[in-house]
Amino acid sequence: MTVADQAMDWQKILASIEAAVSPHIGSGKVANYIPALACVDPRKFGIAVALPDGSMQILGDADESFSVQSISKVFTLALTLQRVGEDLWEAVGREPSGSSFNSIVQLEAEAGIPRNPLINAGAIATTDRLVASYGGGQAGAHEAMEDLLITARRLAQDENIAIDYEVAESESRSGSRNRALAHFMASFGNMKNPVEDSLSAYFRHCSIAISCRQLARAALFLAFDGCDPVTGEQVVSKERCQRILAILMMSGHYDNSGEFAYRIGLPGKSGVGGGILVVAPEHGTIAVWSPGLNQAGTSMVGSIALEELVQQTGWSVFV
Ligand code: GLU
Repeated sequence: MTVADQAMDWQKILASIEAAVSPHIGSGKVANYIPALACVDPRKFGIAVALPDGSMQILGDADESFSVQSISKVFTLALTLQRVGEDLWEAVGREPSGSSFNSIVQLEAEAGIPRNPLINAGAIATTDRLVASYGGGQAGAHEAMEDLLITARRLAQDENIAIDYEVAESESRSGSRNRALAHFMASFGNMKNPVEDSLSAYFRHCSIAISCRQLARAALFLAFDGCDPVTGEQVVSKERCQRILAILMMSGHYDNSGEFAYRIGLPGKSGVGGGILVVAPEHGTIAVWSPGLNQAGTSMVGSIALEELVQQTGWSVFV
């Protein structure tokens, strides 16, 4: 923890976040293209800040589980890079897309290689390589998801993280677009497993139920050169950590990534469940949740909370 961080008045910071968000609570649109997400109370709001000494600053519904959705792509990416290494970059690029999360247009022009691992097509391709690294097929998908859950629980130091199978089912039933993306990539030879096996793993990791406290804690290694500052576990190498953060900064919020970098100035990932995870290198991690989304699928109130937090802490990477 930096000297400046040690002197931080968290009560004051949390109070100013509360004041900044309260006029906006309930704004934005809850994702309804996945029916199981449509019934979430739009007035929910929680934030958790994980610090390197293991302490946690929280506000609101920070202990309530929500659907992690695309934020899971960060952990899938880290695990896949650990398992398959640089070969992953044959299946997926590292450029921001400037397109919506489920866009199909670029895929045709770019011969079935998605722009980055955080858009849906790229995350499906990444998940496909992860599943292949466990032997492929249904068994590989099952083992990969078991390992991902075990990893998330270990990093969060909390066993109460699980897949919400109702959400996974709902995603699968309403997953025509993701299926189209996967089949399109398969037509270019960019899927190693039967499409349904990789998709079933993708739907499962998007459906993990997690709280802000658990999420911020699980990602803490990303703020400290890949090393969990509390347990000392080197989860990924320093270089890999830097590269994951670069991808988050450029592509973490689809066609809202530029705006997010402009307003908040921290690498992060949003999900249509209303969660946002951001990493403040050398300071800590922040997870915020509020279900109302903007047009690009980023939590509206969550972004306001993060903007206020960065203003209060000075944690932008563009110091
Ligand atoms: N599971 C969602 C989907 O595939 C993830 C989208 C998101 O969270 O941005 O559409």
